[in-house]
Amino acid sequence: MTKTAVAPSNLGAIDAAHHLHPFSDMKKLNAEGTRIISRADGVHIWDSNGKQYLDAFAGLWCVNVGYGRKSIADAAYEQMQELPYYNTFFGTTTPPTTLLAQKIASHSGPNLNHVFFTNSGSEASDTWFRMARVYWKALGHETKTMVIARKNAYHGSTVAGASLGGMKWMHEQGNLPIPGIVHINQPYWYVEGGDLTPEEFGLKVAKELEDKILELGEENVAAFVAEPIQGAGGVIVPPETYWPEIKRIAAKYKILLVSDEVICGFGRLGTWFGHQHYDFEPDLAPIAKGLSSGYLPIGGVLVSERVAKVMIEELGDFYHGYTYSGHPVSAAAAIENLRIIEEEGLVERVRDDIGPYLNQALLSLTDHDLVGEAVSVGLMGAVQIAADKATRRRFSKPDDVGTLVRNQCVSNGVILRASGDRMLFSPPLIISRGEVDQAVDTLRKGLDWLKDNHKE
Ligand code: PMP
Repeated sequence: MTKTAVAPSNLGAIDAAHHLHPFSDMKKLNAEGTRIISRADGVHIWDSNGKQYLDAFAGLWCVNVGYGRKSIADAAYEQMQELPYYNTFFGTTTPPTTLLAQKIASHSGPNLNHVFFTNSGSEASDTWFRMARVYWKALGHETKTMVIARKNAYHGSTVAGASLGGMKWMHEQGNLPIPGIVHINQPYWYVEGGDLTPEEFGLKVAKELEDKILELGEENVAAFVAEPIQGAGGVIVPPETYWPEIKRIAAKYKILLVSDEVICGFGRLGTWFGHQHYDFEPDLAPIAKGLSSGYLPIGGVLVSERVAKVMIEELGDFYHGYTYSGHPVSAAAAIENLRIIEEEGLVERVRDDIGPYLNQALLSLTDHDLVGEAVSVGLMGAVQIAADKATRRRFSKPDDVGTLVRNQCVSNGVILRASGDRMLFSPPLIISRGEVDQAVDTLRKGLDWLKDNHKE
């Protein structure tokens, strides 16, 4: 709401009457009442009762430059007056759309130098999924259509996005996955690693990609997709051995390697893109979130020379696109957002200063009886709750303990997310050391509360 338009005092009741929320049990939410977030600045948000929270989750992993950036609002306002909308379908473009593609390419390297714009990460998933199949077909490999993805991955909520994702409970709603998508195991050593060392386990699960390609037949496989660090699944930081082995396998067989950069892109890992941290070169890379820091919806797919060349030289029309692909106002906001990241050196700040600081702060929690592991890369971190640290035994209801600790943190003024029994950090890239301490101390308090109050 603007300052002059005051939200009605019964907004909660109106919300319950008319608004269906994403990923929510509406009966429960309507009974408990929704929290109304009405204002934000820097790393803080305020609810409609005036309570302030430290947002250690950057909205939904996206507000990389923090809230309250007037220059982004100005860029959008000016663009809206100049040209609020035009499409990019019929031989046209708009200045911010094209300039944004150039700016993104300046950071994604000489190989990933084309962009296809979408409005979200989910649409980006659907886009690269079609592109991968179209690419192989254009080369005459009609049978190369299967995509290998990972269990517990998240790639969006559209039909292709949710199918590519490996969340069983999402698949159960809507008869997913669609045909042509199969899932291999994730590199989640803490829970699935058994007696193997993390390094052995990393190699073992990476090798599953090779086994799956051989099982399906290389001539039938189009692509493998993974997030550099699995985000919504619980910030699953892979063992060091994982990505080099995936890189080796992807190079050995004729398949496309797809890096889902929706969370890991735009500085989150202390590099412009997550694949740069893990030193591999994807053929396609969906992006969104940090591209505009969430100020306006925009996403896209980064397309490598290899794929772009075929799309440009061989394909003819690609029958795919969105009314708002490359929307000029979103693009203008995104350009200003990227300019801020560059000017303030936020990627370097994450890599050299605040990322290592968060890592140390999280590691300080490992003396807690209920902390099984604490991991982070850049400003993406997770703390694993354990019932018994020595044996890596979990509480019998992982989701419940995560939610309890999350609720404690929120009550104490810090927004964190729980994924099962992992507590996730993904703060704005501008967070200060003192604010990191506040978030980590609040989590410690939440864990103390769990230790005292949750028995099984
Ligand atoms: N991919 C990943 C890795 C994501 O984390 C998300 C969103 N959390 C998506 C895709 C989907 O993005 P969106 O919600 O913008 O559709």
